[in-house]
Amino acid sequence: MAKIYYENDANIELLRGKTIGVVGFGSQGHAHALNLRDSGQDVMIGLYPGSKSWQQAQQAGLRVGSVEEVAKAADILMILAPDQIQKQIYDESIAPVYREAGRGKMLMFAHGFNIHFNQIVPPGEVDVTMIAPKAPGHKVREMYVDGAGVPAIIAVHQNASENAKEIALAYGAGIGSAKAGIIETTFEEETETDLFGEQVVLCGGVTALVKTAFETLVQAGYQPEIAYFECMHELKLLVDMMHEGGMAYMRYSISDTAEYGDYTRGPKIIDDHVRQNMKSVLLNIRNGQFAREWIMENQAGRPSFLALRRQNEQHMIETVGAELRGMMPWLKKGKPAATQAAAPAAGSTAPAAPAAWTSTPAPQAPASPTGFGSNTLMSPPPADATPPSGSPGDGSTHLHMPRTDATPPGETPPADTNRWGGTPPTP
Ligand code: NAP
Ligand code: MG
Repeated sequence: MAKIYYENDANIELLRGKTIGVVGFGSQGHAHALNLRDSGQDVMIGLYPGSKSWQQAQQAGLRVGSVEEVAKAADILMILAPDQIQKQIYDESIAPVYREAGRGKMLMFAHGFNIHFNQIVPPGEVDVTMIAPKAPGHKVREMYVDGAGVPAIIAVHQNASENAKEIALAYGAGIGSAKAGIIETTFEEETETDLFGEQVVLCGGVTALVKTAFETLVQAGYQPEIAYFECMHELKLLVDMMHEGGMAYMRYSISDTAEYGDYTRGPKIIDDHVRQNMKSVLLNIRNGQFAREWIMENQAGRPSFLALRRQNEQHMIETVGAELRGMMPWLKKGKPAATQAAAPAAGSTAPAAPAAWTSTPAPQAPASPTGFGSNTLMSPPPADATPPSGSPGDGSTHLHMPRTDATPPGETPPADTNRWGGTPPTP
């Protein structure tokens, strides 16, 4: 079982006299910086010239400078810029500082990707650690203001000072997380399980399951509106119950019929074949193949990623869903994707800094607009994601896939390639 540290294990005094630099003032950045400041620490924010976060950080009463200035001044530097541009930030603005004077400094992360996959390789005399709260930034801040904290994880990659874990724990206490508990992990475990979870369950698995079930009903001749409610809308009710009280609590609340179907049919869907697929996805993560592919995709200007995003935005489940959510005004985000992009939420008014895992800040499709609450997995669609007119995304309800009647047993349903009117680029 994991080792968990609490307030008694952390000595926040270790931060006395140290300057803490936080690179980025987005979801995590604003929460870490404000919590540390309110815990009595000396905090500076590092940003790029022209960043829309610059003024926000100043208005919050924090000192702001270029990343290089902050890297020079800070004893502890936490990188909370988007993962895809951390390498570029490090190479350009932090590595030169550490080459001159790295001894005694600590570099920190809230996600292990760039260290674990060797995108950032700090010199040996620098401590390298991770404190990653297990909540979005606004929750990290909200809980701190309420006098509590969110659980976090801690990892040490380089322990040059022989005090790295203790200093990182002090940082964790400074953002409030020692109140809830700080679980020990490694960069490897955090990175690999994070990618696995988002690919297999949280993002990839769930959306593919929902979409395939929806398509199955619609192709069998059922109305998309009804399919949407059964396969997508109600998911939240079940997930909320699992989140609060585990699967047993969810099953306690559903009908016996639903519970019996759950036990007997669930394993027929998620069968041994799926288990093998999961193992192969895990293997791809562990051997670095996924990382290599995603880094190269970014270096190429994200052509497949943006095409896939656009295709998925145009799926019938989105167009039907947008209409149905319009009937439920309490769902605040129930607007079609294109509308959301046209009217970005407060705090995401400018395109984010360009370039992702590339040394040349090539002009490319705007990277994910950032802002509090956003994260790298859930970027809103790019501002240019206007679907071609006449496509389902324009608000009409054309079927975006052939409305075949039920595919006879044993027959393969039409391939995705035909469905989308072209071969989707394989990422
Ligand atoms: P975010 O909300 O997208 O914020 C990014 C911040 O970095 C913005 O303030 C942005 O400024 C700034 N930035 C962009 N380019 C920069 C550059 N070249 N130099 C300096 N600053 C730059 O990011 P996030 O979601 O907080 O993620 C930060 C880290 O936390 C990532 O490693 C992520 O994996 C990790 N994490 C996130 C969550 C979460 O829930 N979001 C949870 C755990 C861990 P602009 O405002 O100008 O764009
Ligand atoms: Mg994650």
